Amino acid sequence: MKEQSARKDDDVILLCAECFQDRGLRLLAKSVNVNESMCPNCGAVSTNALTRDQLLRLSDLFFVKGSTVPTRYGGAPAIQFNDAQPGSLSTNWRLSADVELIQRTLGIGFFHYGPRLWMIGYITPLEDLQDEASRPNVIAKIVAAYPSVILTDEEFYRVRKAPKSPTDPGEYDAPPEGCYGDGRLDAPGFPVLYGSQDAEICVHEARFIAGDELYIATLRPARPLKLIDLSAILQEDCTEFESLDLAVLMLFLAKSHAYPILREIAAVVREHGFDGIIYPSFFSTLRTGGNPFETVYGLSTRRYGQANAYEQSKVIGNLALFGRPIDRGDVAVISINRLTIGQVNYQMIFGPSSF
Ligand SMILES: [Zn+2]
Repeated sequence: MKEQSARKDDDVILLCAECFQDRGLRLLAKSVNVNESMCPNCGAVSTNALTRDQLLRLSDLFFVKGSTVPTRYGGAPAIQFNDAQPGSLSTNWRLSADVELIQRTLGIGFFHYGPRLWMIGYITPLEDLQDEASRPNVIAKIVAAYPSVILTDEEFYRVRKAPKSPTDPGEYDAPPEGCYGDGRLDAPGFPVLYGSQDAEICVHEARFIAGDELYIATLRPARPLKLIDLSAILQEDCTEFESLDLAVLMLFLAKSHAYPILREIAAVVREHGFDGIIYPSFFSTLRTGGNPFETVYGLSTRRYGQANAYEQSKVIGNLALFGRPIDRGDVAVISINRLTIGQVNYQMIFGPSSF
């Protein structure tokens, strides 16, 4: 009986997209839902009426995700909200009216958020990795802490743009001499074959666009390959400020300033007898719609045991295999196809223009 009335409350329409003055908020509201109903606030019959849950989701998307600023490592939202504080946001006049309306309707307050410093990269292992003197010690800890995975018959993909002879399997190996060395994990004298079990990630990772002449090879290990899984979530007994797990994630999601550190990790991993690395990437988190640094009251959701499966589902491992595994006979080319990018879908998250 109680459950039934709770469900009924969830269905109550509170506002609609047309209630909002800010056009970005209105467009985002239209993408959140498709309820057709009379709006109790503005009186319009709207096809984009919003329940409480949908309004909370909209608030999170527009104000929190929409104000998230990436930093050198990590990133944090400039705005947060909860039901424990009064609103204290000052924005432009159109948005102020919308903020007032949402706060009044949901009984929440929006405020400027001072992030906890770990969110913007102040994590001891990450700071130690940036210091060349302390780096080897942290890399040794990484190699010891992360699980290894044996790849036997799992297929994966590698995409190439305009290869000279598209049907030659050798085209899908690590690049030839002189054509590599400035990537995330490859270095001069250290070629790497990058692949993914998600074909779309291959396309994004290499920044291919519609109109490119692309070919995709389906690859499979020809012998068991031993990889270290740096996309795994470590179970740790420490705070975010000491977390190796968050340090490694932030390192892989950072831009090219992190590459020298990542290349050193790759070299040490190879010395330990691994054939390659599974790693998290910016595009794998985008692809699954996840926010890798998601927090609840300033605590990383990666750090709750029960959230583990949820967090893991957001990260699709990318593969980096050391050397030239196709040439060596360690990886077989199963199939080669032409690949046309027919349609690209973006998820648009509008946010405030100032905060
Ligand atoms: Zn309305």
